[in-house]
Amino acid sequence: MTKAIYPGSFDPVTLGHLNLVQRGAKIFDELIVCVASNPGKNPMFSLEERLELFKDAVADLSSVRVETFDGLLVDAAKQFDASVVLRGLRAVSDFDYEFQMAHMNHQLSPGIETMFMMTGDEHFYLSSGLVKEVAILGGDIHPFVPEHVAKALDKRTK
Ligand code: ADP
Repeated sequence: MTKAIYPGSFDPVTLGHLNLVQRGAKIFDELIVCVASNPGKNPMFSLEERLELFKDAVADLSSVRVETFDGLLVDAAKQFDASVVLRGLRAVSDFDYEFQMAHMNHQLSPGIETMFMMTGDEHFYLSSGLVKEVAILGGDIHPFVPEHVAKALDKRTK
C-alpha cells in the first residue's frame, strides 16, 4: 500500500492542483493533501479556509483526504505514514527550488522519496498567486478554480 502526501500552501486550490490530485489518486493507494500553515507567506485565506476549500474540491475522490501540517515536510510524511512526497512541476523555473527541496528532504529522511508530475498542458501557467492577482484586479477567475473557490475569491476581494 503506497501512501503519498501532496504538500503545498494551496492559497487557494486551483484547477492545476486538482489536475495533479486526480492523476495522483490513480497512482497511489492513498493521497493525503497537506495544507501547510506557511504564516510567512502571508496567505489570503486562513489555514482552516484553505483546508475547507480543498476538502470541498475533492469530496468525490474516496482515496484522497485533506489535512493540515506545520513544520518539516518529512515530519508530516512520517506523521501520515507516507513514503512519497508528490510535487508538481510547471516550468523550468520551478525546477531549481524543487531540486533543492527534494535533496534536502532526502538528507533529512532518506526513506521518503519525492516524485514529480508535470502539469497538464492546460494548467502549466496557473498559480494561486496569479489567480489572486487577477481576482484583486477584477478579472474573471472562473476558468482557473472550482466554482466554490471562485465565490470565496469574489467575496474576499470585493
Ligand atoms: P507551495 O507554496 O508549496 O509551492 P503551492 O500551493 O503553490 O504551494 O503548490 C503546491 C504544489 O502544487 C507544488 O508542487 C506546485 O508545483 C504544484 N502546483 C502549483 N500549481 C500547479 C499547477 N497549475 N499545475 C500542477 N501543479 C501545480
